[in-house]
Amino acid sequence: MAIEALAKPAGTWCAQCRPGRGCLNYAGRPDECASFSCLWLVNDLLDERWKPSRSKLVLTTSEDGVEIRCDPGSPNAWHREPYASEIRAWAAEGEHNDMTVVVIVGRRMILVTPEREFDLGIVGPDERIVRELEGTKVVGATVLRAGELDAG
Ligand code: SF4
Repeated sequence: MAIEALAKPAGTWCAQCRPGRGCLNYAGRPDECASFSCLWLVNDLLDERWKPSRSKLVLTTSEDGVEIRCDPGSPNAWHREPYASEIRAWAAEGEHNDMTVVVIVGRRMILVTPEREFDLGIVGPDERIVRELEGTKVVGATVLRAGELDAG
């Protein structure tokens, strides 16, 4: 994830991270690190199978719905069971509640719907996913710059 206080872009290692050891500056880490909790930590419905070190998935909520960050070292982890079925079920629920389910692998984003996956490629921090709807059903998805959105 991007860490603003460290000017760390998403999809890059933090200079203070040592794989296998953890944060080299844990006591002095930025507030955005200290206050972060993934859904597995706070949602009792996600059992041990969803622990990020086991599932290779880190779940968070966004303004639009659920984001599932998949370890780029295991880019297909989200296609494995029980994850794939559960993610599809969230997408089905989201379609009725105007919520999106997005899988993020590195900087690549995939919008998941009950019937298909929209691979949107690399989506920048200043870009937004725009869904094309027929009723509540998602029939298309594109990526627009925030400025293009504002221009209507
Ligand atoms: S917790 Fe430490 S290693 Fe992790 S992103 Fe924050 S500063 Fe970097």
